[in-house]
Amino acid sequence: MRIDAHQHFWVYSPHEYGWIDESMGILRRDFLPGDLKPELDCAGFEGCVAVQARQTVEETKWLLKLAAESSFILGVVGWVDLRSPFLRSELQILAQDSKLVGVRHIVQSEPDDQFLLRPDFLRGVSVLEEFDLVYDILIYTKHLPVAAQFVQRFPRQRFVLDHLAKPPIKDGTLSRWSQGIRDLAAFPNVFCKLSGLVTEAHWQNWKPEDLVPYVDVALECFGPDRLMIGSDWPVCTVAAPYSRVVEAVKLCLGPLTDEEGEKVLGANAQQFYKL
Ligand SMILES: [Zn+2]
Repeated sequence: MRIDAHQHFWVYSPHEYGWIDESMGILRRDFLPGDLKPELDCAGFEGCVAVQARQTVEETKWLLKLAAESSFILGVVGWVDLRSPFLRSELQILAQDSKLVGVRHIVQSEPDDQFLLRPDFLRGVSVLEEFDLVYDILIYTKHLPVAAQFVQRFPRQRFVLDHLAKPPIKDGTLSRWSQGIRDLAAFPNVFCKLSGLVTEAHWQNWKPEDLVPYVDVALECFGPDRLMIGSDWPVCTVAAPYSRVVEAVKLCLGPLTDEEGEKVLGANAQQFYKL
C-alpha cells in the first residue's frame, strides 16, 4: 500500500495561521480532504497521514473527524499538551479513536533550543508508549544534537523525524546537517520522513537533483527500512505542485531496488504508524 505519510488540512484564518506570510500567499485558503484526494489518486497513493498544524486539542479532534469521514485518511498525528499534568486523562479520551496514531509539538518554534529536554515535556513523552502513540519530531538542523539526547531517554518509544530536520538545501551545504542526521539515526527506534524538502530548496528554480545529496545521506543513515515518503502538502505547493514534489523524491530513490522503494513509498509508514 502506498501512503503519503505527511500532509495537513486547514480552514484558513490569518489569525490562526500567522506563520503563512506574504511569500506563502498561495497557502492562504482552505485545504480539505476533497482537495487532496485527486492529488493522492494521481500520484498513486491509497492513503495518507494527516498531521497537526496548530497546537490545539480542538484541531486534533477536527482531524479525527475528517479521518472518520474519509477512509483514505489512515491516521492522524495530533497535538496534546505533553507538559500538562492532565495529559493522561486527555489521552485516555483521544486515544479511544484508533485513527490517532501519534502526537507532535511544534518544537522548531519554541524559543528554548533545549525544549525537548525540559522535565515536564519529557514526562509527557514518557506517557506515549502506554497509549501506543508515536512522536513526530519537528525541528531545525540546529536542534539535531538535542534530539539525539532526547530519543536516547526513550529506547522503546517510536519516533519519526519530520522533513529530515530541514536541511540547508538552498545553500547546498551538507556537513553539519549530515553529522546530526547520522547521530540521530544511530538510534534504531527513530524513523525519518522524506518530506518537506522542496520547501528548503530555492522555491522558484529548484531541480530534483538539488535534493539528491540530502536523500542520499538519509538513505545511508536510516536505510530503506526506516524512511517514508511524505508530501507535506499543501505547504509544499509554495515550491511546486503535489505531483512534481512526489516525482522528485521518487527520482532520489533511484539507488533502491523495487522492493526497497515500495517500503519507502508506503510499507514503512504502514508498519511504523500501525495503519
Ligand atoms: Zn508539514
